[in-house]
Amino acid sequence: MKDISPKNGAFEMPQLAYSSLGDVISSETLSYHHGKHLKAYVDNLNKLLQGSGLENLNLTEVVKRAEGGLFNNAGQVLNHAMYFEQFGNANHQPIGKVKELISSNFGAFEDFKKEFEQKGATLFGSGWVWLSQDADGKLVITQQKNAENPVTMGLKPLLTFDVWEHAYYLDYQNRRADYLSALWQIVDWSVVESRL
Ligand code: MN
Repeated sequence: MKDISPKNGAFEMPQLAYSSLGDVISSETLSYHHGKHLKAYVDNLNKLLQGSGLENLNLTEVVKRAEGGLFNNAGQVLNHAMYFEQFGNANHQPIGKVKELISSNFGAFEDFKKEFEQKGATLFGSGWVWLSQDADGKLVITQQKNAENPVTMGLKPLLTFDVWEHAYYLDYQNRRADYLSALWQIVDWSVVESRL
């Protein structure tokens, strides 16, 4: 994704490009997840950034260098910016180069989805499941705890599903696996492709 830069020393709220995601993510979940949870991470990030020595860096660089509370909040802002950006109402099948890469790395799209969902379902506690590209161009699926992002491991993140309970509890309660399998209906693969 494009680097997110601070404006006048502060990061802005990542905007949503849609007002609804049908039945997959309810408007109630969207309003809490984006409007309350992400808002808190942005506000905390901006407070903790002051005096950290990392002011004026773009968000990815802050995530790579920060520790403690600043890392947690910067990581969560970057993770959520990517999560909310990748959904939309079109392109729900892999396209172009990312389609080729999924085929050469995982075989059938269904097999890739199964592995990605399984890694998301078995991540213990709060975190994120990621599809990334490594330095050799190979695709990898990783489980990352809490606010972690694959950029800290030298990977290029392409797609992520949030498995913190706040992402699905209002709509799916304890059924995390159902939430994960439903998300494919709203992924816009042109966004994923643009991150290569
Ligand atoms: Mn979240």
